[in-house]
Amino acid sequence: MTSIPYINLSEQWKQERAELLPIIEAVLSSGQYIGGNEVNIFEENVAKLCGVKYAVSLNSGTDALVFGLSAIGVRPGDEVITPPNSFIASTSAITHLKAKPVFVDVGDDQNIDSLKIEKAITSKTKAIMPVHLTGRIADMNTIMNIANKYSLPVIEDSAQAIGSKYDGKNSGSIGRVGCFSTHPLKNLNACGDGGFLTTNDENIYKQISSLKNHGLVDRNTVEKFGYVSRMDSLQAAILNYRLQKLPDLIEKRRRNAAAYTSMLDSRNIFIPKDRDIEFNTYHTFVIQVDKRDELKSYLMSKGIETSIHYPIPIHLQPASKSLGYKIGDFPMTENQANRILTLPIHQYLREDELGKIAESVNSFYK
Ligand SMILES: *Cc1c(COP(=O)(O)O)cnc(C)c1O
Repeated sequence: MTSIPYINLSEQWKQERAELLPIIEAVLSSGQYIGGNEVNIFEENVAKLCGVKYAVSLNSGTDALVFGLSAIGVRPGDEVITPPNSFIASTSAITHLKAKPVFVDVGDDQNIDSLKIEKAITSKTKAIMPVHLTGRIADMNTIMNIANKYSLPVIEDSAQAIGSKYDGKNSGSIGRVGCFSTHPLKNLNACGDGGFLTTNDENIYKQISSLKNHGLVDRNTVEKFGYVSRMDSLQAAILNYRLQKLPDLIEKRRRNAAAYTSMLDSRNIFIPKDRDIEFNTYHTFVIQVDKRDELKSYLMSKGIETSIHYPIPIHLQPASKSLGYKIGDFPMTENQANRILTLPIHQYLREDELGKIAESVNSFYK
């Protein structure tokens, strides 16, 4: 029996049901199931939230990455620099364009180590794709300096970092494009798949808006064969409703993170510090510990569900075999893969539950 679940979507529905049902009803009775007002409003809302001129709603965060990479000019044979510890989609998006992921190890905070990027640049490098893992924005000042020096576009994998800020800038507004997911497990979550792309580039906006809809430029004209990757009107309506709740949700997660940081014993538990210039939205709360697997089982025995993001680094996945990487290539990532544990941090956690989790973790190391 899990008494403290890692994530609690049924509690979310319970709390939102009375307000969400009429919204869902309105979409269903309107007959407008694809495109339309809710989708247009969603695009305006998220463009504003991210501080960019344009947002394109899509069917998933993965599609945002694939379309984004293509729009910034990544072609077969090109190399894209990215970290090996992310959700698998960051890398798979690169391979779908028949481009080659070139991994760069991470730092203490699980984000790409910006000081190692320059060494990985070759004549084939076409783009840099940092991932803002856990809700923490990568070291974008350094990354943008390198990108500008070599004239490389930057694509931000912002799937875990909606609303995050860094040095006064919003997640998804720093590189040429930003890619977001509204998957049910993300901080801004739909009741199904969804995602969007942000940019200040009108051409990219127009191109992807057309590509996601068969390549249509008007009702009957196709300039370039496209795909089907539209956001459902129903999901857009749910997201528009939940966008109003996002600031409160982020505040709760930040408060939970601060509570953990003050309660957890820093002698046994490593928590990367937030930099002064950043606003972390804590999509996940990841600690780094010895005896991770034993701790995970111990917590489970106390009814506390945890998770691991991610247990197998991407360069060691069976799917990465042809890339030619081996164990030992990225020591930080590999070391962290055995030490990271994600504690529940969702907005429905109660104070007593937080206390129980922290106390249980501390007592395991006593
Ligand atoms: C969730 C996620 C994605 C993919 O998003 P989907 O909407 O599931 O396609 C990509 N990158 C990262 C870092 C993610 O966490």
